[in-house]
Amino acid sequence: MTEKRAIVTGGSTGIGRGLVKALSDAGYRVAFTYHASTEAAETLEAEITGARAFQCDAGDADQVAACHASVAKALGGVPDLLVNNAGIQTWSPLLDLAAEDFDRVIRTNLRGCFLNTQAAGRAMRDAGVAGSIVNIGSGCNKLGFPRLADYAASKGGIEQLTKVAAMELGPHGIRVNCVAPGAIATDRTAEEADGYADKWAALTPLGRVGTPEDVAGPVLFFASDAAQFVTGQTLYVDGGVFSRAPWPDYDL
Ligand code: NDP
Repeated sequence: MTEKRAIVTGGSTGIGRGLVKALSDAGYRVAFTYHASTEAAETLEAEITGARAFQCDAGDADQVAACHASVAKALGGVPDLLVNNAGIQTWSPLLDLAAEDFDRVIRTNLRGCFLNTQAAGRAMRDAGVAGSIVNIGSGCNKLGFPRLADYAASKGGIEQLTKVAAMELGPHGIRVNCVAPGAIATDRTAEEADGYADKWAALTPLGRVGTPEDVAGPVLFFASDAAQFVTGQTLYVDGGVFSRAPWPDYDL
Protein backbone atom coordinates (compact mmCIF):
# COMPACT_ATOMS: atom_id res chain seq x y z
CA MET A 1 0.00 0.00 0.00
CA THR A 2 1.22 3.55 -0.66
CA GLU A 3 2.06 5.25 2.61
CA LYS A 4 -0.94 6.77 4.30
CA ARG A 5 -1.14 9.10 7.26
CA ALA A 6 -3.31 8.84 10.34
CA ILE A 7 -4.04 10.86 13.46
CA VAL A 8 -5.46 9.19 16.57
CA THR A 9 -6.75 11.29 19.47
CA GLY A 10 -5.96 10.02 22.96
CA GLY A 11 -3.41 7.59 21.56
CA SER A 12 -1.01 7.05 24.42
CA THR A 13 -3.01 4.54 26.50
CA GLY A 14 -5.59 1.78 26.19
CA ILE A 15 -7.50 1.39 22.93
CA GLY A 16 -5.78 4.42 21.40
CA ARG A 17 -2.37 2.90 22.02
CA GLY A 18 -3.53 -0.32 20.33
CA LEU A 19 -4.80 1.73 17.38
CA VAL A 20 -1.49 3.55 17.00
CA LYS A 21 0.37 0.24 16.88
CA ALA A 22 -2.10 -1.44 14.51
CA LEU A 23 -2.16 1.51 12.10
CA SER A 24 1.62 1.64 12.08
CA ASP A 25 1.76 -2.12 11.39
CA ALA A 26 -0.69 -1.56 8.53
CA GLY A 27 1.68 0.94 6.91
CA TYR A 28 0.34 4.25 8.18
CA ARG A 29 2.56 7.07 9.40
CA VAL A 30 0.82 7.82 12.66
CA ALA A 31 0.47 10.91 14.81
CA PHE A 32 -1.38 10.72 18.09
CA THR A 33 -2.52 13.21 20.69
CA TYR A 34 -2.41 12.98 24.45
CA HIS A 35 -3.53 15.25 27.23
CA ALA A 36 -1.98 14.33 30.59
CA SER A 37 -0.04 11.09 29.97
CA THR A 38 3.22 12.63 28.81
CA GLU A 39 5.40 9.72 29.88
CA ALA A 40 3.20 7.11 28.18
CA ALA A 41 3.15 9.25 25.03
CA GLU A 42 6.93 9.54 24.96
CA THR A 43 7.31 5.79 25.50
CA LEU A 44 4.96 4.99 22.64
CA GLU A 45 6.62 7.53 20.37
CA ALA A 46 9.96 5.81 21.05
CA GLU A 47 8.47 2.35 20.47
CA ILE A 48 6.80 2.96 17.11
CA THR A 49 9.02 3.96 14.23
CA GLY A 50 7.84 7.23 12.73
CA ALA A 51 5.08 7.81 15.29
CA ARG A 52 4.71 11.39 16.50
CA ALA A 53 3.09 12.51 19.75
CA PHE A 54 1.31 15.86 20.14
CA GLN A 55 -0.06 17.28 23.37
CA CYS A 56 -3.53 18.58 22.63
CA ASP A 57 -6.66 19.03 24.70
CA ALA A 58 -9.38 17.57 22.49
CA GLY A 59 -11.92 20.10 23.78
CA ASP A 60 -9.84 23.23 23.09
CA ALA A 61 -10.60 24.68 19.65
CA ASP A 62 -7.33 26.62 19.27
CA GLN A 63 -5.18 23.69 20.38
CA VAL A 64 -7.00 21.31 18.03
CA ALA A 65 -6.58 23.61 15.02
CA ALA A 66 -2.89 24.14 15.80
CA CYS A 67 -2.36 20.43 16.39
CA HIS A 68 -3.83 19.38 13.03
CA ALA A 69 -1.60 21.92 11.25
CA SER A 70 1.48 20.62 13.11
CA VAL A 71 0.56 17.00 12.37
CA ALA A 72 0.24 17.69 8.64
CA LYS A 73 3.69 19.31 8.68
CA ALA A 74 5.27 16.50 10.70
CA LEU A 75 3.76 13.72 8.59
CA GLY A 76 4.43 15.46 5.27
CA GLY A 77 0.79 15.92 4.34
CA VAL A 78 -2.81 15.97 5.52
CA PRO A 79 -3.78 12.70 7.26
CA ASP A 80 -6.01 10.31 5.30
CA LEU A 81 -7.51 9.05 8.54
CA LEU A 82 -8.67 10.61 11.80
CA VAL A 83 -9.69 8.35 14.67
CA ASN A 84 -11.62 10.22 17.37
CA ASN A 85 -10.75 8.03 20.33
CA ALA A 86 -10.10 10.46 23.21
CA GLY A 87 -12.66 9.99 25.93
CA ILE A 88 -13.29 10.20 29.65
CA GLN A 89 -15.92 8.72 31.93
CA THR A 90 -17.36 9.63 35.31
CA TRP A 91 -19.64 7.48 37.48
CA SER A 92 -22.56 9.06 39.27
CA PRO A 93 -26.29 8.62 39.70
CA LEU A 94 -28.07 11.19 37.56
CA LEU A 95 -29.54 12.96 40.57
CA ASP A 96 -26.09 13.45 42.12
CA LEU A 97 -24.13 14.18 38.93
CA ALA A 98 -22.16 17.41 39.26
CA ALA A 99 -22.80 19.85 36.43
CA GLU A 100 -19.02 20.37 36.18
CA ASP A 101 -18.51 16.64 35.52
CA PHE A 102 -21.28 16.65 32.90
CA ASP A 103 -19.61 19.61 31.16
CA ARG A 104 -16.14 18.02 31.34
CA VAL A 105 -17.29 14.74 29.79
CA ILE A 106 -19.29 16.43 27.02
CA ARG A 107 -16.39 18.81 26.36
CA THR A 108 -13.82 16.04 25.94
CA ASN A 109 -15.90 13.34 24.28
CA LEU A 110 -18.43 15.18 22.11
CA ARG A 111 -16.96 18.64 21.58
CA GLY A 112 -13.55 16.96 21.11
CA CYS A 113 -15.00 14.71 18.41
CA PHE A 114 -16.64 17.72 16.75
CA LEU A 115 -13.53 19.93 16.85
CA ASN A 116 -11.21 17.22 15.51
CA THR A 117 -13.71 16.23 12.82
CA GLN A 118 -14.01 19.86 11.75
CA ALA A 119 -10.23 20.40 11.68
CA ALA A 120 -9.54 17.16 9.81
CA GLY A 121 -12.53 17.63 7.49
CA ARG A 122 -11.43 21.14 6.52
CA ALA A 123 -7.86 20.01 5.90
CA MET A 124 -8.95 16.98 3.84
CA ARG A 125 -11.36 19.11 1.79
CA ASP A 126 -8.76 21.80 1.11
CA ALA A 127 -6.08 19.25 0.17
CA GLY A 128 -8.47 17.14 -1.93
CA VAL A 129 -7.86 14.10 0.28
CA ALA A 130 -10.66 11.51 0.06
CA GLY A 131 -10.13 10.55 3.67
CA SER A 132 -11.89 8.66 6.38
CA ILE A 133 -12.95 9.58 9.91
CA VAL A 134 -13.72 6.91 12.49
CA ASN A 135 -15.34 7.86 15.78
CA ILE A 136 -15.04 5.60 18.80
CA GLY A 137 -18.46 5.20 20.35
CA SER A 138 -19.73 2.73 22.93
CA GLY A 139 -22.72 0.59 23.88
CA CYS A 140 -23.91 3.92 25.32
CA ASN A 141 -24.60 4.97 21.72
CA LYS A 142 -27.84 3.03 21.97
CA LEU A 143 -28.43 1.55 25.44
CA GLY A 144 -29.15 3.17 28.78
CA PHE A 145 -26.35 2.46 31.25
CA PRO A 146 -27.08 3.57 34.83
CA ARG A 147 -24.69 6.13 36.39
CA LEU A 148 -23.33 7.16 32.99
CA ALA A 149 -25.71 9.99 32.05
CA ASP A 150 -22.94 12.35 30.93
CA TYR A 151 -20.94 9.67 29.13
CA ALA A 152 -24.07 8.21 27.46
CA ALA A 153 -25.16 11.67 26.32
CA SER A 154 -21.72 12.22 24.79
CA LYS A 155 -21.68 8.86 22.99
CA GLY A 156 -25.27 9.21 21.77
CA GLY A 157 -24.20 12.60 20.43
CA ILE A 158 -21.24 11.01 18.67
CA GLU A 159 -23.62 8.55 16.98
CA GLN A 160 -25.66 11.43 15.53
CA LEU A 161 -22.59 13.56 14.78
CA THR A 162 -21.24 10.62 12.77
CA LYS A 163 -24.35 10.62 10.58
CA VAL A 164 -24.46 14.38 10.02
CA ALA A 165 -20.72 14.51 9.26
CA ALA A 166 -21.15 11.63 6.80
CA MET A 167 -23.91 13.58 5.01
CA GLU A 168 -21.95 16.85 4.83
CA LEU A 169 -18.49 15.45 4.10
CA GLY A 170 -19.61 12.78 1.63
CA PRO A 171 -19.63 15.24 -1.30
CA HIS A 172 -15.93 15.87 -0.56
CA GLY A 173 -15.23 12.13 -0.76
CA ILE A 174 -14.75 11.90 3.01
CA ARG A 175 -16.38 8.98 4.81
CA VAL A 176 -17.36 9.09 8.50
CA ASN A 177 -18.19 5.99 10.51
CA CYS A 178 -18.29 4.87 14.13
CA VAL A 179 -16.83 1.85 15.87
CA ALA A 180 -18.68 1.16 19.13
CA PRO A 181 -16.71 -1.17 21.40
CA GLY A 182 -18.15 -3.48 24.02
CA ALA A 183 -16.16 -4.34 27.14
CA ILE A 184 -12.49 -3.95 26.23
CA ALA A 185 -9.61 -4.84 28.54
CA THR A 186 -7.54 -1.71 29.16
CA ASP A 187 -5.74 -0.40 32.26
CA ARG A 188 -8.67 1.95 32.76
CA THR A 189 -11.35 -0.75 32.71
CA ALA A 190 -9.24 -3.05 34.93
CA GLU A 191 -9.40 -0.30 37.57
CA GLU A 192 -13.09 0.36 36.93
CA ALA A 193 -14.44 -2.60 38.92
CA ASP A 194 -13.22 -5.75 40.63
CA GLY A 195 -13.52 -8.70 38.26
CA TYR A 196 -14.35 -6.42 35.30
CA ALA A 197 -13.13 -8.87 32.66
CA ASP A 198 -14.80 -11.97 34.13
CA LYS A 199 -18.10 -10.23 34.75
CA TRP A 200 -18.33 -8.83 31.22
CA ALA A 201 -17.09 -12.10 29.68
CA ALA A 202 -20.01 -13.90 31.36
CA LEU A 203 -22.48 -11.49 29.68
CA THR A 204 -20.81 -11.56 26.27
CA PRO A 205 -21.97 -14.18 23.73
CA LEU A 206 -18.39 -14.70 22.48
CA GLY A 207 -17.37 -15.48 26.07
CA ARG A 208 -14.61 -12.95 26.63
CA VAL A 209 -13.86 -9.28 26.82
CA GLY A 210 -12.25 -7.61 23.82
CA THR A 211 -8.75 -6.25 23.33
CA PRO A 212 -7.59 -3.00 21.71
CA GLU A 213 -6.58 -5.17 18.71
CA ASP A 214 -10.21 -6.30 18.38
CA VAL A 215 -11.15 -2.64 17.96
CA ALA A 216 -8.34 -1.91 15.53
CA GLY A 217 -9.50 -4.41 12.87
CA PRO A 218 -12.87 -2.71 12.24
CA VAL A 219 -11.22 0.74 12.33
CA LEU A 220 -8.83 -0.44 9.60
CA PHE A 221 -11.79 -1.84 7.66
CA PHE A 222 -13.66 1.49 7.74
CA ALA A 223 -10.47 3.29 6.67
CA SER A 224 -9.80 0.88 3.80
CA ASP A 225 -10.99 0.78 0.22
CA ALA A 226 -12.99 -2.32 1.17
CA ALA A 227 -15.37 0.17 2.86
CA GLN A 228 -15.26 2.76 0.07
CA PHE A 229 -19.11 2.83 -0.22
CA VAL A 230 -19.71 2.75 3.54
CA THR A 231 -20.43 5.95 5.45
CA GLY A 232 -22.60 7.08 8.37
CA GLN A 233 -22.52 3.62 9.95
CA THR A 234 -21.92 2.35 13.45
CA LEU A 235 -20.34 -1.07 13.90
CA TYR A 236 -20.64 -2.67 17.33
CA VAL A 237 -17.41 -4.45 18.19
CA ASP A 238 -18.69 -6.10 21.31
CA GLY A 239 -18.66 -9.91 21.06
CA GLY A 240 -22.44 -9.63 20.66
CA VAL A 241 -23.18 -8.22 24.11
CA PHE A 242 -25.19 -5.19 22.97
CA SER A 243 -27.40 -7.36 20.75
CA ARG A 244 -28.39 -9.47 23.72
CA ALA A 245 -31.98 -8.90 24.86
CA PRO A 246 -32.73 -9.09 28.56
CA TRP A 247 -34.62 -12.35 29.10
CA PRO A 248 -36.33 -13.70 32.20
CA ASP A 249 -34.96 -16.91 33.65
CA TYR A 250 -37.89 -19.33 33.03
CA ASP A 251 -38.22 -22.76 31.42
CA LEU A 252 -39.79 -22.82 27.95
P1 NDP B 1 -8.11 5.34 28.31
O1 NDP B 1 -8.42 6.16 29.53
O2 NDP B 1 -6.97 4.40 28.35
O3 NDP B 1 -7.92 6.28 27.04
C1 NDP B 1 -8.52 7.52 26.92
C2 NDP B 1 -7.59 8.44 26.22
O4 NDP B 1 -8.22 9.71 26.05
C3 NDP B 1 -6.30 8.67 27.01
O5 NDP B 1 -5.19 8.39 26.22
C4 NDP B 1 -6.36 10.16 27.38
O6 NDP B 1 -5.09 10.81 27.28
C5 NDP B 1 -7.25 10.71 26.29
N1 NDP B 1 -7.86 11.95 26.77
C6 NDP B 1 -8.59 12.17 27.88
N2 NDP B 1 -8.93 13.47 27.96
C7 NDP B 1 -8.40 14.09 26.88
C8 NDP B 1 -8.41 15.41 26.39
N3 NDP B 1 -9.04 16.42 27.04
N4 NDP B 1 -7.75 15.67 25.25
C9 NDP B 1 -7.11 14.69 24.56
N5 NDP B 1 -7.07 13.40 24.97
C10 NDP B 1 -7.71 13.12 26.12
O7 NDP B 1 -9.48 4.56 28.02
P2 NDP B 1 -9.89 3.51 26.88
O8 NDP B 1 -8.74 3.14 26.03
O9 NDP B 1 -10.64 2.44 27.57
O10 NDP B 1 -10.94 4.35 26.03
C11 NDP B 1 -10.66 4.88 24.74
C12 NDP B 1 -11.96 5.21 24.03
O11 NDP B 1 -12.74 4.02 23.89
C13 NDP B 1 -12.85 6.21 24.78
O12 NDP B 1 -13.48 7.06 23.85
C14 NDP B 1 -13.87 5.32 25.45
O13 NDP B 1 -15.07 5.99 25.69
C15 NDP B 1 -14.04 4.23 24.38
N6 NDP B 1 -14.59 2.99 24.88
C16 NDP B 1 -13.84 2.16 25.68
C17 NDP B 1 -14.38 0.96 26.11
C18 NDP B 1 -13.61 0.02 26.97
O14 NDP B 1 -14.19 -0.99 27.41
N7 NDP B 1 -12.31 0.23 27.22
C19 NDP B 1 -15.75 0.56 25.76
C20 NDP B 1 -16.43 1.51 24.92
C21 NDP B 1 -15.86 2.65 24.50
P3 NDP B 1 -4.28 11.29 28.58
O15 NDP B 1 -4.13 10.03 29.42
O16 NDP B 1 -3.02 11.81 28.04
O17 NDP B 1 -5.15 12.31 29.27
